[in-house]
Amino acid sequence: MTITIDVALGDRGYPVHVGHGARELLGEVIPDGVKRVAVITQAGIPWTVDPGIEHDAIEVPDGEEAKTLANVEAICRQMATAGFTRADAIVGVGGGVVTDLAGFVAAVYHRGICFVSVSTTLLGQVDAAIGGKTGVNLPEGKNLVGAFWQPSAVICDTETLSTLPTPEYQSGMGEVAKYHFLGGGDLDTLELDERVAACVQIKADVVAADEREGDRRAILNYGHTLAHAIETAGEYELRHGEAVAVGIAYAAEVARRLDRIDDSRVAEHRRVLSAYDLPFRLPASLDAGELIDLFNRDKKAIDGVTFVLDGDAGVETVVGVERDVLADAMEAIR
Ligand code: NAD
Repeated sequence: MTITIDVALGDRGYPVHVGHGARELLGEVIPDGVKRVAVITQAGIPWTVDPGIEHDAIEVPDGEEAKTLANVEAICRQMATAGFTRADAIVGVGGGVVTDLAGFVAAVYHRGICFVSVSTTLLGQVDAAIGGKTGVNLPEGKNLVGAFWQPSAVICDTETLSTLPTPEYQSGMGEVAKYHFLGGGDLDTLELDERVAACVQIKADVVAADEREGDRRAILNYGHTLAHAIETAGEYELRHGEAVAVGIAYAAEVARRLDRIDDSRVAEHRRVLSAYDLPFRLPASLDAGELIDLFNRDKKAIDGVTFVLDGDAGVETVVGVERDVLADAMEAIR
């Protein structure tokens, strides 16, 4: 059975199909009139798709390093040589790396062509494939070049998760845990398909309310302020989803110190993270002061730090969180 969630963006709206074997729907979601499809994927992904019309496969390298402008050019040149036109489509089959890169190519090839995402990682299904953010990295930083380019449809085939390496699966669970606190409730009691669909629904609702990342969409960064600082500090003993998990536990401690939530809500954060076998303690090697210096480093944090925090009204952006609160909360997750 497939669960369908609509991303309500008016004439740019689209369905997200979630379920075991949902990739079989690909032929049905490719818009009428599309004559040919470029299927962009990676060699290591053991799943193929059938768009039901003429298609060429284009492989891109593995890993974050694949998200480059050089690869955008290489793919565009391959497509131009093969004669792809504005009336054709791109299907990205893979995790966030493939769908970010393939989606960006779709946004710029012939000034924008139809794009369909077939997401094959847990992180991709609950996060990266939904919402239309596409892009690549520069040596100066991640995701610095990109475009908002909504797909025509997204397919989250949960069967493909059966071959996902365990660490990748666990990393995706960090994002799943986040959705518990964005209105998802007890997602851990649901079967996988329902759980993925519930996460997609939350992301779809947030995106529909704030397509271009104004304030509302920032709540999707719950747990990410500390996670990004951990990643920037260069300590990769934690994977992204694990860093997000520690960041979620930390955000709860910060919110507790601001009296936004009580002890039982802090305990609920730890319970959820434990239910997914995720960490909630900061590795001993990380220096608290250095991490706090990295918060909001792109903005001038003269009047305290901006943080996404839980509270009576749900998760929201809070400005002006002071350093002594941040430092005290850091000790609580040691
Ligand atoms: P990934 O795309 O690198 O995939 C992880 C690994 O799993 C890769 O080696 C991939 O080849 C392999 N793989 C994928 N599917 C598989 C399967 N079914 N079976 C076996 N192996 C499989 O990593 P990811 O975690 O999916 O995505 C991370 C990327 O997503 C980052 O670049 C991040 O910036 C981006 N992202 C984007 C958004 C957005 O809104 N656009 C949101 C979050 C993250």
